[in-house]
Amino acid sequence: MDEKLTKKILEQLRVLDKNYIPLVSFPITDGSPKNFLGEKENRTCRFCGRSKTDGITFKKEAHALSNLVGNDSLFSYYECDECNQRFSIYESDFAEFMKIYHCILKVKGKRGIPSYRMNTSRVDIEGTTTSIKQYEGDPTLQCDIDEVNKKLKITALRTYTPIHVYKALVKMALTILPEEDFEHCKSALNFLNQEPVSVNIPLPVVVQMYGQGVDVHHSVMAAIFKRRDDAKDKVFSYVFLLAYNNMCFQMPIYGCDLDKFAEGEPVNFFAIPTFPLLDGYPLILNSVVDLSSSEKKTKEPISVSFSFADFERTDFNSSAEQ
Ligand SMILES: [Zn+2]
Repeated sequence: MDEKLTKKILEQLRVLDKNYIPLVSFPITDGSPKNFLGEKENRTCRFCGRSKTDGITFKKEAHALSNLVGNDSLFSYYECDECNQRFSIYESDFAEFMKIYHCILKVKGKRGIPSYRMNTSRVDIEGTTTSIKQYEGDPTLQCDIDEVNKKLKITALRTYTPIHVYKALVKMALTILPEEDFEHCKSALNFLNQEPVSVNIPLPVVVQMYGQGVDVHHSVMAAIFKRRDDAKDKVFSYVFLLAYNNMCFQMPIYGCDLDKFAEGEPVNFFAIPTFPLLDGYPLILNSVVDLSSSEKKTKEPISVSFSFADFERTDFNSSAEQ
């Protein structure tokens, strides 16, 4: 790794260490045994505060982290069926927001690796092959092929409501918080529970994607970092990190009563370096997206570039296979 980058990462780790402790982390690998958060008996829903005596049920196995990111083993006992149903809208938008990435990166959800399709053009994963069918005149999928360098740029479209995507992440963060820390984040819970209206502050989320490798995280990993009592900088009290495959999301948990320490002054958020970076994988996407709007984004173009090992074309300019 180049010296400048190593220095930068070490500095980031030093800043992290001076401000945060790792509070919880849940690594999930393929075939991990089922793990349930919370108590099986006398269940109360963390999100609506109700229990069975209030007429609600807990029949469904509630994923602590969305199964869209590859979690099939971490569940919670404290999410009722009604809340589970309510949150599924947010998960659907998260799926739409990430679909082209999840397809290209082969992220396996409950129904397998998602295909991308809007009109007639489509991207499917067939075994180890990425099959791309692009039809002339269909604006929903564009492919730019660089045969010499074996690079492919795909531009797809996505339709989603930003604040729904944000809420899908907030829900995962609130689920893995330990009970006593969850108590400090009631405003975030209220935000999650209220009807999705746009908020007048930006809701930034760091979205990262690593290149030059497949499944560079080797697992799904969700973690919460908590501000140290003797933190050096004015930083958010809780930061949520979700890493899987080649993706990583990072965001502060807004609305935490412990953030009042800042007494109205701005509170900082900085990205946490993750393992693939230390292993030398390049970040090919490192952006901050603002997901505060409740206005539906329709057919937003999104580009993904990747290199392919082998290539077979069945009809010039219409179909490509990796
Ligand atoms: Zn509930």
